Amino acid sequence: MKIKDLLARDQVTFSCEIFPPKKESGFQGVFQVAESICKLGVDFVSVTYGAGGSTTKKTVEVASHIQNGQGTTALAHLTCIDSTKEQVKSQLARLREQGIENIMALRGDKPENFTETSSYAHAIDLVTEIRSAGGFCVGGACYPEGHMECPHKAEDIGYLREKVNAGCDFLTTQMFFDNNVYYNFLYRTLSAGIQVPIIPGIMPIINANQVRRSQELSGATMPPRFLAIADKFAENPLAMEQAGIAYATDQIVDLVANGVKHIHLYTMNRPQTAERILANLSHIVR
Ligand code: FAD
Repeated sequence: MKIKDLLARDQVTFSCEIFPPKKESGFQGVFQVAESICKLGVDFVSVTYGAGGSTTKKTVEVASHIQNGQGTTALAHLTCIDSTKEQVKSQLARLREQGIENIMALRGDKPENFTETSSYAHAIDLVTEIRSAGGFCVGGACYPEGHMECPHKAEDIGYLREKVNAGCDFLTTQMFFDNNVYYNFLYRTLSAGIQVPIIPGIMPIINANQVRRSQELSGATMPPRFLAIADKFAENPLAMEQAGIAYATDQIVDLVANGVKHIHLYTMNRPQTAERILANLSHIVR
């Protein structure tokens, strides 16, 4: 099913993100993660591409396992910064072959040897390519606190509008830990004329390492309330896990209470975390 059709329904949707294995030997483990998440009855599962050292081909295999093996809608990520047109075309053909009709079109982080000669300098170029191939529902990334490379938020939103106009059906946000950051972003995107659904991406921080790593990767502001939790419980893994799940749950309750209809969870391949959060929301999300 196309995600834009799922998002058009009058109900709260809940989706999760997983990443493919780094090595061939990791497939079974990731398949099990995917199966456990699908069993939770989520609306769709996204599979990252090339992020964190995973290799590219595995995204299609994992997405196909979710969609064709488990019967859950899959969203396959695709990055373009270091791809040729031929590589993108062949990846689109592989996705089509597997019946995967949802793609998250991303630029990807600039590799160390990056030169401006890439066929795809920005995600908008990939969105345009996928649109011209036809038949896919396309998502794009967005950054409530602004993308790290763009010094001015207004400029970043201007580029985002161009990307949406090129053919994004929906957007998913970078993680944020203060819902006001998201509400403020929604206001600015609406003012800029961006009207597609903007799915908030929620990252449950359940161990001390994630605090530093998430901030490095995303640049997201950590509010004092969140930092107090990390400070108090960092040395007590079970307490940190419980507090992180409670914090993410609280963010989601507030989002839904304020009329947000779609929630995306960065599950980091931990189905138990998704399960515990969903259990906390059993009367709220369904
Ligand atoms: P773009 O939309 O191209 O934006 C990148 C920068 O370029 C921004 O600063 C923007 O303001 C600027 N810009 C855009 N258009 C123009 C223009 N025409 N002229 C000048 N400047 C412009 N990474 C992975 O490797 N694999 C993944 O699976 C993955 N999944 C992600 C999922 C989500 C929901 C998010 C939020 C991020 C994900 N990322 C992933 C990270 C992403 O690849 C990086 O954040 C990357 O640096 C930017 O990608 P983008 O698609 O947002 O790029």
